[in-house]
Amino acid sequence: MLHFYHGVMGSSKTAMLLMQRYNYLQLGFRVALVKPAIDTRISANAVYSRVGLQAEADIVLESGHSVREQLNWLAVQHAHSDFQYVFVDEAQFLTEAQVQEMADMADDLEIICYGLKTDFMGNFFPGSAALLRLSEDIREVPGSLCWCGKKATMNTRVDGKGRVIKHGEQVLIDNQDEIRYIGLCYQHWREGKSHG
Ligand SMILES: [Zn+2]
Repeated sequence: MLHFYHGVMGSSKTAMLLMQRYNYLQLGFRVALVKPAIDTRISANAVYSRVGLQAEADIVLESGHSVREQLNWLAVQHAHSDFQYVFVDEAQFLTEAQVQEMADMADDLEIICYGLKTDFMGNFFPGSAALLRLSEDIREVPGSLCWCGKKATMNTRVDGKGRVIKHGEQVLIDNQDEIRYIGLCYQHWREGKSHG
């Protein structure tokens, strides 16, 4: 089954992914950890959570990669025939074709994707749109709050001075040009207020 667990910035998606993966590894399941190549926080294959947990991805997916081919290659490296669980971090950066491929692979395989639903302008990422169309299990990762205390629902890009940015390229990784991302409630995202 293809699963999509979406949450805004600060909802500890990656920490949840890493804890779930750890539990399954402890139980002896064959688990693969995948991330799209576009996320360059820390290093190319690190899966990094803001609360401090991290792990190394088994596969860093380039946009032209076939998910099936990459997993087959990895299974050969691990000297087994297949995986039981595949975890994907930052799944919004998957291509539509990769999500389609995952949906077609998920009859007898659990593929669990964690990622953002929308970008800082409130638009879908192509990967998220495909995951929302094709996943059989869609859940929201709760827990992220706006500074006002209401539920954060909107991913927000802010500059070094804390000003809300509403226009620009869809993908601009944080730590570059003092850009960072926070979660805001809809009202404060609309008003562009990143603090009280
Ligand atoms: Zn608010």
